[in-house]
Amino acid sequence: VQRCRIVAAAEVEQSYIMIKPDGVQRGLVGEIISRFEKKGFLLKGLKLFQCSKDLAQEHYKDLKDKPFFPTLIDYITSGPVVCMAWEGVGVVASARKLIGATNPLQAEPGTIRGDLAVQTGRNVVHGSDSPDNGKREIALWFKEGELCEWESVQTPWLIE
Ligand code: UDP
Ligand code: MG
Repeated sequence: VQRCRIVAAAEVEQSYIMIKPDGVQRGLVGEIISRFEKKGFLLKGLKLFQCSKDLAQEHYKDLKDKPFFPTLIDYITSGPVVCMAWEGVGVVASARKLIGATNPLQAEPGTIRGDLAVQTGRNVVHGSDSPDNGKREIALWFKEGELCEWESVQTPWLIE
């Protein structure tokens, strides 16, 4: 309630964050979710999901002409992923910072990829690169009714 009074709705963004199959297989689900929780963003949607090739191709359609596209699709469909919708002011850019550079060897220590991965093709997590793509990707990965509208009791302790 307080959040709505202080923050204009237009400023509130959503980012689609996804723990990739390597993150799930390596037991990093709790660790990765925890980083976004601790930062103070609001979790609006969460599910474990095995995606189809069609969905993976649609998600990464901007990369369809890249040489690594077929192996990327194999990777993303190789096991279950954890799909998340996170909300907050500035969440898209902030999540990209928390995630770190695409190549984990270049990602700063302290970032998810910098701390937990070594190779671009196994970089454990996805984050939307713009608010528009955040909307697009959340609509792609979540069905109607899968997101929750709720207020966190932490909000007044996160936003003045
Ligand atoms: N990728 C890859 N090889 C490359 C570049 C990207 O396998 O040379 C994969 C990697 O999993 C990356 C994803 O394709 O996370 C999407 O690439 P993008 O450039 O959008 O990186 P991101 O936004 O995930 O940092
Ligand atoms: Mg990207």
